[in-house]
This record gives sequence, C-alpha cells and structure tokens, in this order.
Amino acid sequence: MTTPEETASRPTERSGLRTQAVHAGVRLDPMTAALCPSISTAVTFAARYGDIGFSAAGTVEERVPYCYAREGHPNARQLEARLAAMESGADAAVFASGMAAISGLLLMLLNPGDHLIISDISYAGTAEFARGILQAKGVTVTLADMSDPEDVKAAVTDRTRVLFAETPCNPVLKLIDIALLAAIARSASARLIIDSTLASPIATQPLKFGADFVVHSLTKYCGGHGDAVGGAVIGRDATAIKCLRDEIGVHLGAMLSPFNAWLIMRGIETLPIRMEACSRSAETVASFLEQHRHIVGVRYPGLRSHPQFALAQRQMVVPCGMIAFSVRDMNAFGSALEANLRVFTFAASLGLSRSLILHCHTAELQRTTFKLDDEHLRRYREFAGDGFFRLSIGLEDPQDLCEDLDRALNAAFGE
Ligand SMILES: *Cc1c(COP(=O)(O)O)cnc(C)c1O
Repeated sequence: MTTPEETASRPTERSGLRTQAVHAGVRLDPMTAALCPSISTAVTFAARYGDIGFSAAGTVEERVPYCYAREGHPNARQLEARLAAMESGADAAVFASGMAAISGLLLMLLNPGDHLIISDISYAGTAEFARGILQAKGVTVTLADMSDPEDVKAAVTDRTRVLFAETPCNPVLKLIDIALLAAIARSASARLIIDSTLASPIATQPLKFGADFVVHSLTKYCGGHGDAVGGAVIGRDATAIKCLRDEIGVHLGAMLSPFNAWLIMRGIETLPIRMEACSRSAETVASFLEQHRHIVGVRYPGLRSHPQFALAQRQMVVPCGMIAFSVRDMNAFGSALEANLRVFTFAASLGLSRSLILHCHTAELQRTTFKLDDEHLRRYREFAGDGFFRLSIGLEDPQDLCEDLDRALNAAFGE
C-alpha cells in the first residue's frame, strides 16, 4: 500500500516544467504528511551498528540515506532532485554558493598539467579562480571567444580536458552555441560545462544540447528573491555527480544550509512564471531603450538587433531578464541615478524580484578580472566600448521601469 506522502508529488519525466517546478523532489514528512517540506536542521542521523563508517564514501545512499549534514541532508536532497528533473539530468549536487559549485567541479575535473579553455568573458569569480588558483596549482588556462568556433578550435591542445562557457554571458549578453561547442568538446575528448545562471532551466537546458555539466548560481533566478546564496551542478552522468558530492563536496565542506535549500526550493516553484514575466518586461524595456534618443546601443537576446538573434530563437525558450546598454557619457548617467531612480536599485547581483542596475567599466574589468590579450579585448570592446550599464529586470510593472530610466536619462543628458 502506498502512503499519502508517497503519492502527493509524483511528476513524471514528461511533466511540463511548471509542474516539475512545483512537484519534483518533494518528500513529505512521513509523520505528518504536511504539504510543505519540513526544514531538517539535524547535524547527525541515527544509524545501526555497521551501517556507517568514518568516511562518507560508500556510506551515504548505499546503506543509510543520511549520515552527517555536511555530506548531505533532506533539504539539500530534495532540491537536488528538483534541479535534476528540471535540467533533465541524471543527478545534481548543491553547494553553499555558485562559486563553490564552479570551483568544486573544476577541482574535480582538472589535475596538474591539464588544460582548461574558458570563455574570454565570464563571471568575475570564475575568471579570477581559473586564472588565479587553478593556474597556481599547475592547470594551464586559455581564454577563448566561445561564440567563435575557430577561436575555440585554435585553443584546443592534446591536454585539453574541460571547456567552460556561460550563455548568455555575464555581463555583455553574448550567446554561445552549446551544440556547436559540445561537438568541439567531444572531438577533443574534453568535458563541456555550461554556466546557465542567466538562462535558468526555463530558458535553456544545456544538457539537451550536449553539455556534460550545467552549473547555476541558485542565488540568482532559481532562488529569485535575493534572500539566499546557493549553487548547484547538474550532470548527465550520475556517477560523476556522486563523485563530486563524496570527494569534493564533503571535503570542501561547502554544503548548502537546510534553510537556504528550503528557501531556494520554494523560490523555484514560481521560477517558470517569474521567468516568463521578467522576460516580457525586459522585452518592453529593451525596445523602449532602443528607440530612446540618449541611448547609444542596447544588447538584449530578445531584440532583432542582437547579433545572435537567430541563435537566441533556437536555443532560448524566453530571452530572460538581463539587458546591457550604453550611453555616450557613463559618469553623467551614473551620477544621475541616485536622485532619479525610484524603482531600480544600483546594486550587484541579478535575477531577483526587484530590478537592479549596475555599471561595467571596461578598464576596471580588464585590470581586475579579464586581463584579455589585445585581440580578445578588441572583441569585447566591440559592444562594451569603455563601459556600459547592465539591468536585471524584476517583477515590477514595466511602465514604471521605463519611466525610471527615462527620468534618469533626461536628467543626465537633457530633455
Ligand atoms: C553570481 C554568479 C555566479 C556566482 O554565484 P554565487 O552564488 O554568487 O557564488 C556564477 N556565475 C554567474 C553567471 C553568476 O551570475
């Protein structure tokens, strides 16, 4: 006989993403069958003599579901199952942050002497970790323009083990053709990792296009409310994810807390409808900016003017909520923000319910983070110039967002 808690949430692989987002991974408390997951704060779990050893390897999952919370706990496990279902992966491992997920995965896949090819434009933490710690530990790192297959092929060596790219990439919203990159990775016998934080599982499911691993900063769209830091790796191969959890996760000790896992699990319930709503608003705001007399350039995957609009149509279900735009004088506009913005907040991060604006100065990014060679800097500057502003569109009324930007633009550059 099945119990009510076992039958309460049974999405299938064919269920739509909105159904998965609400139901996948939920394990109801068998004592109460409460319809909302409990938060399990336990550090340790009762076991029988002989069932647990001193090492995590071979203990957890095979003989007992949980042993010690740093190695895994019920809230992490439920979130992992939900993410694996939504990305069509075999399994997932959650971490205390997106950076813990990224650095953990790279540490697992790369040994001294191995070669990593990473996108010339990527999240600052990823770029700095690869060029800094990984290189110091003997991994060679090459930056390549992942949107240009010839540039990637030219970077491949017989030691290349991993290709790492973001799409859309932060901050310039350039896109990467995942299927094309997967083919290059396969012919080099390398693994392809896609950081899909800006797309979320709603816009793109990279495993379906041939990626081996997807990483997310759950802090952004998945959590969606700006109240919990977290990260995840989802893989097509369950053995690799188990290894990531048992070898890296356990010993890095960067386990997601039960409360953050619970918050992110709840945030994901509304991810599909939030992503649709912020994409629609972003389309309105991007079109408004594109025809504004004080705007020099706009880049948004949902605009026909995006140089990879055709790829966006092929690879993204919705164009998401991130917009990049440039004005003729960054400091003039930057100085007008505080007095004129009523809805946007000037702040780091993205993907939350409130809209955010951030500046991206080319010279500063180049000095601290990217350190691009002349050719890749030239490519970056094709859109970015000396710098631009990045918007993360939230859930407010798009009309209010347009009015906010209009007020600040007119204050900076005249009516
Ligand atoms: C924020 C972000 C990260 C890092 O995630 P944290 O949760 O802040 O550690 C990685 N990649 C991208 C694209 C991001 O936006």
